[in-house]
Amino acid sequence: MQAIASISQSALTHNLSVVKRLASGAKVVSMIKADAYGHHLDCIHPLIDNSDMLAVSELAEAQKLRAITECPILLLSGVYSEDELQRAIDLNCHIVVHHTSQISIVNNTKQTVNIWLKIDTGMHRLGLSGEEYKECLPLFDNNSLVEIACVMSHFACADEIDHPMNKTQLDRFEALTAKENTRSMANSAAILSQAEAIFDFVRPGIMLYGASPFNTPNNQLKPVMKLSAPILSIKTLQSGESVGYGATWTADKNTTLAVVGIGYADGYPRHAKNTTPVLINGVLCPLVGRVSMDLICVDISTTKANVGDNAVLWGDEKLPIEVVAHNSDTISYELLTGLNARVNFELAP
Ligand SMILES: *Cc1c(COP(=O)(O)O)cnc(C)c1O
Repeated sequence: MQAIASISQSALTHNLSVVKRLASGAKVVSMIKADAYGHHLDCIHPLIDNSDMLAVSELAEAQKLRAITECPILLLSGVYSEDELQRAIDLNCHIVVHHTSQISIVNNTKQTVNIWLKIDTGMHRLGLSGEEYKECLPLFDNNSLVEIACVMSHFACADEIDHPMNKTQLDRFEALTAKENTRSMANSAAILSQAEAIFDFVRPGIMLYGASPFNTPNNQLKPVMKLSAPILSIKTLQSGESVGYGATWTADKNTTLAVVGIGYADGYPRHAKNTTPVLINGVLCPLVGRVSMDLICVDISTTKANVGDNAVLWGDEKLPIEVVAHNSDTISYELLTGLNARVNFELAP
């Protein structure tokens, strides 16, 4: 009796095809950092096998990925020492250069290396300033071992379609990189809403997993992860009786309660509020009381269920993850990457 994350292979294929249709002509770097947004590297072969490139944050992730594929890997954090440079080259990574301290490390290479220059166009997180970018270009141009494979930047507000920063960042990027012939700017939100930000490579993440970068579900995409857990107990509460730690919810009428075997130690959000929907036998039922470490309680007065039946926590057409994220004051990205080792992962067709 365990929580199960079932990973739909056909949904991965479908979502990748949506990316390829929207960004036709562009190459696809599938973002599979954080163990494929929590979906587990060994459960996402349709992405691994059908992307032009795969991106991870750190060397340790690149190493795990290299063990299962020969696809080119983009290392988003770049390298911080000659030792890391050598490891990245040995793993056949393309290496992001986002800080001036990385320039000389890469430039001292003794072997051919592909780099992606990352420009900060306004997010002010990782990236070279416009000046730093212009200054480093001749250094790399004079080094035949360093190949500038792409120039990239990242949007701060692409999930807010009308945010003025989107145009500001795009204009800066265009102005700085007009002479480059391989560029990359678009994440999922931009792929879905800003055709003008689609250059030579697109970098979809969340949309590949069937979740929307916007607050509302996108019906072009299919949820990849379905999270479910078994009903461990069913009982009847009398009006006036309360449920769970802190007794934060009290029945105002006689209520049938299902106790479901998932909690915050599995990665179900502790901040999910009363009334967050849980899908039981096809019916959306409200969460009641606090989420505890191993258990949640659900009011199933409007449906029939038995001990052992499965409750779906997210990833069904009737229960998109965005709804659970909204009810927990978070985003789908955090829920997906937050599942713990106790959850059993399995492949679904
Ligand atoms: C994670 C990441 C993306 C993907 O973002 P989504 O919103 O998941 O599509 C794209 N580019 C960079 C640099 C990233 O780190």
